[in-house]
Amino acid sequence: MPVSGLGDYDRNNVFARILRGEIPCREVFRDAHALAFHDIAPRAPVHVLVIPTGPYVSLADFSAHATEGEIAGFWRAVGSVAKSLELEAPGYRILANMGFAAHQEVPHFHVHIFGGRPLGPMLVEP
Ligand code: AMP
Repeated sequence: MPVSGLGDYDRNNVFARILRGEIPCREVFRDAHALAFHDIAPRAPVHVLVIPTGPYVSLADFSAHATEGEIAGFWRAVGSVAKSLELEAPGYRILANMGFAAHQEVPHFHVHIFGGRPLGPMLVEP
């Protein structure tokens, strides 16, 4: 079910539970600002999610309310995770779904990293 990406943070969303260790994940990277793990239903040979460790519902929430340190630490993690996955030479795509139109499903801000094959056009027409 898509979510709005606005409103209050749900402390029991699936990524909050992964952050607390209540649900397992295939971890790729973790530091004070970010956790990266493999998507449970990968859409590409490499499909990794990077999430901030802080409680932000969406990119709208994160960009408006996170500290400079959280924002810098998170985006540095996205780049370094992609590099550690050896995706820089072939290239990769990042994507963040915000709200209903983008079909955001998990109400904790996350960036998808896709790679491992040619990724085709940016958007497929409906
Ligand atoms: P989005 O539509 O951008 O909110 O994407 C949510 C993503 O989270 C989807 O690609 C799901 O496959 C993924 N996902 C949901 N639950 C889990 C989980 N427990 N572990 C890893 N990935 C998950």
